[in-house]
Amino acid sequence: MRYDHILVRYGELALKGKNRNDFEKRLRRNIQHALRSHSSCKVKRTYGRMVIELRGEEPGPVMEKIKPIFGISSFSLAMKSPNEFDEIKETALQAFEQTEGRKDTFKVSARRSYKSFPVRSQDLNKEIGAHILRNTEDVRVDVHHPDVEVTVEVREQGTYITCGRTQGAGGLPVGTAGKVALMLSGGIDSPVAGYLAMKRGAEIEAVHFHSPPFTNERARKKVEDLTKVLTRFGGPITLHVVPFTELQQAIHKEIPSNYAMTIMRRMMLRITERLAQARHMKAIVNGESLGQVASQTLESMYTINEVTNTPILRPLVTMDKQEVVDISKGIETYSISILPYEDCCTIFLPDDSVTKPRRDKAAYFEEGFDFEPLIKDAINRVETVKMEEKAAIEEEMDDLL
Ligand code: ATP
Ligand code: MG
Repeated sequence: MRYDHILVRYGELALKGKNRNDFEKRLRRNIQHALRSHSSCKVKRTYGRMVIELRGEEPGPVMEKIKPIFGISSFSLAMKSPNEFDEIKETALQAFEQTEGRKDTFKVSARRSYKSFPVRSQDLNKEIGAHILRNTEDVRVDVHHPDVEVTVEVREQGTYITCGRTQGAGGLPVGTAGKVALMLSGGIDSPVAGYLAMKRGAEIEAVHFHSPPFTNERARKKVEDLTKVLTRFGGPITLHVVPFTELQQAIHKEIPSNYAMTIMRRMMLRITERLAQARHMKAIVNGESLGQVASQTLESMYTINEVTNTPILRPLVTMDKQEVVDISKGIETYSISILPYEDCCTIFLPDDSVTKPRRDKAAYFEEGFDFEPLIKDAINRVETVKMEEKAAIEEEMDDLL
């Protein structure tokens, strides 16, 4: 007997009816996608749990893939036994013997969700505990602080036994909240903002503004790489690359330099909103943090925000830079974000930007030039690519070729 299953737990709170069904379907799909290079694995829904049958796959790499998936509260290696009391006892003993780490003390926690099973939870606890004690040297029961908690879940299709649990990523399965447009620069903040939006169930499409030839291919590659990293948390991500050169040149020429930054942001927002509307995205996510730079003062947000009715989500709004950096290191976007390729915003922009831009002035400057054709043209020339991180197995193949 060996550990050949992974039992996946998720928060059941507030999950009812259709919501529950959506949640479970999404979660299952997201797990399946994450495990696509482990083709033998089967992911099954059982009431209130997800079970992964390993079918010969090594558990370690599979568990690594499970860790970043949102919507999972915890998961455990498990052994499965038929619903037959002697077999359950023996499987529990095996599971205890094969679990790693310190195990001087243990307790058994049985749960009988399949009520037709004739032995009650308390009796399961007692008898399984006794069986482990009889067959193992130097262990004792400690119900308060056991080294190992042997959980026994009796379900209709079988009994699952686990001896430890790993914390999952939490949050909600990506996709359950609908779709949002992530304004993705090559910086540190916006990938983290995207990650946090995904954590609460949003599926993202990334929108990036570039200004060739002033920003080069490497800058674009950087954004593609950041997008790929984000796919680990919720599957393939569509990336829209917006050609922004002409608009930036027009802004540079037509707008007083201290308002160029504000107008540029308003243009970005207008374009992002139109993409969002065309693709059924209900919100825009960006990486702004209150007061971080001139364009992120409240006055600036107020003036930039004027051009759209679509909700703007700012997951980082209250964070300090260091908190954002810590998250970006944790999700492995940091090392890409700090690569020194120029961003479209830094090129044309003087450093005399007002920190308190006004709505009336911004509108007044915009009236002096017809930006609409340039906006339309930029949208017409958007390049859309679907980004997906290659599965490990494909990468190994690439290495061999
Ligand atoms: P980041 O680290 O995300 O670049 P930042 O601290 O550099 O953020 P800004 O450059 O002021 O801040 O950008 C604020 C937000 O505007 C970004 O977080 C991002 O959401 C959006 N943004 C900025 N530049 C671009 C771009 N070239 N393409 C798409 N979105 C952008
Ligand atoms: Mg930036």
